[in-house]
This record gives sequence, structure tokens and C-alpha cells, in this order.
Amino acid sequence: MSKLLIFTAPSGAGKTTIVHHLLETFPELSFSISATTRRQRPHERDGYDYHFITKEEFVKTIDSGGFVEWEEVYENLYYGTLHSEVDRLWAEGKHIIFDIEVKGATNIKKAYPEESLVVFVKPPSEEILFSRLRERNTESAESLAKRIARAAEELAYEHSFDYVLLNDDLATALAEAEQVTRDFLNL
Ligand code: ADP
Ligand code: 5GP
Repeated sequence: MSKLLIFTAPSGAGKTTIVHHLLETFPELSFSISATTRRQRPHERDGYDYHFITKEEFVKTIDSGGFVEWEEVYENLYYGTLHSEVDRLWAEGKHIIFDIEVKGATNIKKAYPEESLVVFVKPPSEEILFSRLRERNTESAESLAKRIARAAEELAYEHSFDYVLLNDDLATALAEAEQVTRDFLNL
């Protein structure tokens, strides 16, 4: 039986870093490639990190029932988990790993309560979270401000999930994430 391993946190907490590490470590895992209307970052690949689509395509997919869940995460920026993606990975017999924000994580867990584990990645402090986000150097001033504005609300979700993973020292957090994965997947 395939399982769903969901990583959630405010932007900049380290989800992507941890999820990439787990994908390299565990061949049993495959990444749920979300659809988004945000612009592709220079190092990202379409159809690998995300399916980068237009707002029109996104709305069509909503209307045709193509999403397990979707959110307008930032004003006029949409993100969603595709049924086709979950079905494809499930058919391959893979366990699925997700990188999604807190409301989406809650909804996936609701849709698949028995099969899901939600891990909240906790930054050591708000200050460190914001400095990681700034130093990542991927956001415009406007986008950075939106992400910072949303972070306090997202941090309040810490106690809503199955596991809290503190991401202070990276090597420690990666080792703990590996252990959580082994326990959950019985590896
Ligand atoms: P998210 O996917 O949650 O937005 P990222 O994985 O992109 O977060 O991490 C945000 C930035 O912080 C990246 O530049 C990443 O390299 C860095 N980072 C992640 N974890 C740590 C850590 N434990 N210590 C220092 N920097 C980190
Ligand atoms: P980013 O633009 O930094 O890649 O992602 C912004 C936020 O959207 C992150 O918290 C990320 O986890 C979240 N996100 C990515 N894909 C999805 C998705 O399919 N659904 C939801 N609800 N959030 C997503």
C-alpha cells in the first residue's frame, strides 16, 4: 500500500531542501509535481519541480475536477495537487512525497487520513526564517514581503500536524527526516 509523506511549513523553512534530500536517499519515494501559476525560477525545470501553467489552464483544471486540493497561496498565485499526478505515482507503486503549504497539507490528510503523515518543518525563529528566505535570493521585494506576511499565520499551524521537525542545524534535520521516513515507510 502506497503512503503519502507530506512536508509543510512557511516559505523558507527548508521543505524543498529536505524533500530533495529524501528523494535522493530513498528510491521508494516519488515527488508529487504540483501545478502552479507562479513564474519559473532560473534553476527550476518545468514538469520536474512544478508544472508551470497559466491562470487560464489552472482555472480549467479546477473546473474539470483535476485537483485533489488547490490554494491561492499568494495573491493571484495558484498552486494545486493534481489527481493525475497522485494516480500516476500510485499506479507505479511509489510512496508519494509532497512539498505543500499548511492548508493544502491539511486537505490532503483529510482526503487520505489513513495513508498520510504530515511533517511540519519548523525554523529556529522567525528572524532566521526571514534571513534564509532573503539569502535564497529567489524573490522580488514584493514577493518576499508577501511570504513574510503569510509566515506568522503558517507558523501557528505547528501543532496541527503529526510531527514537528526542527530545521536548525541542517545535517541534524536531514538525519531526523530520514529516520521519520524509515519509520513511516517501515524501511
Ligand atoms: P522552502 O522550500 O521551505 O521554501 P528551502 O528549502 O528553499 O525552503 O530553504 C530556504 C533557504 O534556506 C535555502 O536557500 C536553503 O538552502 C536554506 N536552508 C535550508 N535549511 C537550512 C538550514 N538548516 N540552515 C541554513 N540554511 C538552510
Ligand atoms: P514556492 O513558490 O516557494 O515554490 O511555494 C510557495 C508555497 O506553495 C510553499 O509553501 C509550497 O509548499 C506551496 N505549494 C507548492 N505546491 C503546492 C500545492 O500543490 N498545493 C498547495 N496547497 N501548496 C503548494
